[in-house]
Amino acid sequence: MVRLRAVRLSLGRGAAQVEALKGVSLDVARGEAVGLVGPSGSGKSSLLMTLAGLEQVNSGRVLINGFDITDLNEDMLAKFRGRYIGIVFQSFHLVPTMTALENVALPLELADASDAFSRAKRALERVGLGGRLGHYPAQLSGGEQQRVAIARAVVGRPPLIVADEPTGNLDEDTGKDIVDLLFALKRDEGATLVLVTHDPALAARCDRTIRMRSGLIESATLDEAS
Ligand code: ADP
Ligand code: MG
Repeated sequence: MVRLRAVRLSLGRGAAQVEALKGVSLDVARGEAVGLVGPSGSGKSSLLMTLAGLEQVNSGRVLINGFDITDLNEDMLAKFRGRYIGIVFQSFHLVPTMTALENVALPLELADASDAFSRAKRALERVGLGGRLGHYPAQLSGGEQQRVAIARAVVGRPPLIVADEPTGNLDEDTGKDIVDLLFALKRDEGATLVLVTHDPALAARCDRTIRMRSGLIESATLDEAS
C-alpha cells in the first residue's frame, strides 16, 4: 500500500532549513496498522505528510497503492489524496461555519459526487453522530469533533487512512473511543492505517511499531517488542 525509498525531505528555508527526513525507506502492506513513535522533532509528522502526499520530497520515491506520486504536481496530488487517502489531524481542522453534515459532505462535493449529503449522513451515523448532523463544530465536544473529522476522512472510502496524534487533544476515555473507532473502520473497510502516537496503549494495538529518531527510522518492530 505504501512504499517509500530513500526519501529525503527538507522543510523551511535558509538558516531555518531542516532535513526532516534523511533517507527513509518503508513498506506498509495493505490492511496493516502501523504506529509511528519517537521523540518530538524526530520526523514522525514529516513522514506521515509525505506518505499522505502533503509534502513533496527532495529525493527518493513515494509509491501509494502502486502509483508513483513522487513527481505529481499539486493539482494531481490533490486529486490523488481525495481518492486514496483519508487524513486525520490532532486538531480536527473542521470548517467552523459549516455543520457536521456539511463538513463531511465537503470532500465529496469537491469531487462532484451526486449523493454527497446522503453519504455524509451515513458516515456520521457510522461514527455515532447521527443525532448531530446540524451541529456546528463549536457546539460539539472535542471527541465529537474528532468523530466528525474521522467521518470526513473516511466518507470517500479511502484505502489508506493516516492520523497524526488523533487522540492528542482528547481525554483518556474519549481518546480510547476514537481509537476503537479507527480500528473498527480499519477492520470493516479493510483500510490500511498509519498513525503517529505518543500513547503506548495505542501503539500496542498496531500490527507494527516504527520508531523514528533524527529523521531516520531507528527500528521497526512487531508490537510485542515495542
Ligand atoms: P515530529 O512529528 O516527530 O515531532 P516533525 O516531523 O514535525 O517531527 O519535525 C521534524 C523536524 O523538522 C523537526 O526538527 C522540526 O523542527 C522540523 N520542521 C517541521 N516543520 C518545519 C517547517 N515548516 N520548517 C522548518 N522546519 C520544520
Ligand atoms: Mg508531529
